[in-house]
Amino acid sequence: MTFDIPEDATFLGDDVIAQINIAPGFGEYFTDHMALADFDGNGWHNDRLMPYGAIPMDPANAVFHYAQEIFEGLKAYRHADGSVWLFRPRSNAVRFMNSARRMALPVLPEEDFLSSVVNLAKLDARWVPGGDEQSLYLRPFMMANESFLGVRAAKTVLYCCIASPVGAYFSSGVQPVDIWVVQGLSRVAQDGTGAAKCGGNYAASLAAGEVGYQNGCSQVLFTDAASHTYVEELGGMNFFMVTAKNELVTPDLNGNVLAGVTRDSLLALAPSLGLTPVERPIKLAEVYDGLDSGDIKEVFACGTAAVVGPIASLKDENGTHSASQHTKTLELRQALCDIQWGRSSDPFGWMMQVA
Ligand SMILES: *Cc1c(COP(=O)(O)O)cnc(C)c1O
Repeated sequence: MTFDIPEDATFLGDDVIAQINIAPGFGEYFTDHMALADFDGNGWHNDRLMPYGAIPMDPANAVFHYAQEIFEGLKAYRHADGSVWLFRPRSNAVRFMNSARRMALPVLPEEDFLSSVVNLAKLDARWVPGGDEQSLYLRPFMMANESFLGVRAAKTVLYCCIASPVGAYFSSGVQPVDIWVVQGLSRVAQDGTGAAKCGGNYAASLAAGEVGYQNGCSQVLFTDAASHTYVEELGGMNFFMVTAKNELVTPDLNGNVLAGVTRDSLLALAPSLGLTPVERPIKLAEVYDGLDSGDIKEVFACGTAAVVGPIASLKDENGTHSASQHTKTLELRQALCDIQWGRSSDPFGWMMQVA
């Protein structure tokens, strides 16, 4: 599939787009076009870029009932010379293939995923904002598209990619946040869907998020469902800590933790900042003790949307455990942002130019 760019494409006026891009927020506005493709018994076909709009759906569509759905998230960045670049899109393509396998959805070949995101970003390049920390967020997703209430994998499936201009995640500078450590509510189980990026994992995390809000925290940290002993991740971000020995430690990919592209990138950048990357099981008790004793200096969360978000403290019913500093956290954030926005060289070849 090639997702050819239509010659008769129309766009909102540049003045309207510029007005939206002053303060686009996150996922509130969408560009002029979307990419679509259909899967049936004969494979993927009917790839198209068309005007953004509602998708008619039968109420019996299995996705409404059984949540057979996966998604991705990646960004296009405008560099100072006006060019537009994607960050590691092949990593998202591969993860999308892995998620599809886990959710019994058809695999979208890497090159098809790539042409859809590249051509949508090219076509709607005028929507990529150029302000500080601004970008165009691309949201590829795939879902059952069959009117049938029997429980089995759908035979017809829809792939779609939409795009949304997004502003700085932290509107008033990068602010450390308090995180609620969830007890009694799990988002994924051992041998469950934790390694797949599926909507169902997010639905399962929302009730815990409410508990977090009630305790004054905007995000929650989940421990392993089997024993509630090990730290896993936040609802949609990976967890990291910086030790006094200058190790950058994150939970290993044990099947419950999502393989974040930001996570992988920070592990790769660690040595250049004097940090030793370590992936291993992390006990919650170790994190609490380490923060209290100073053996752990910093904790943070990371993901495409916020890049890196420093954590001020971890809280639960029994108390608060605060980080003493955020120095390395902010250095890591800066190093990654500099590559993404083209302010530094790209030693790993992570950026792909699209316009
Ligand atoms: C998407 C996601 C992340 C972050 O992945 P990135 O590729 O860095 O954006 C982390 N955890 C979960 C559960 C996610 O869905």
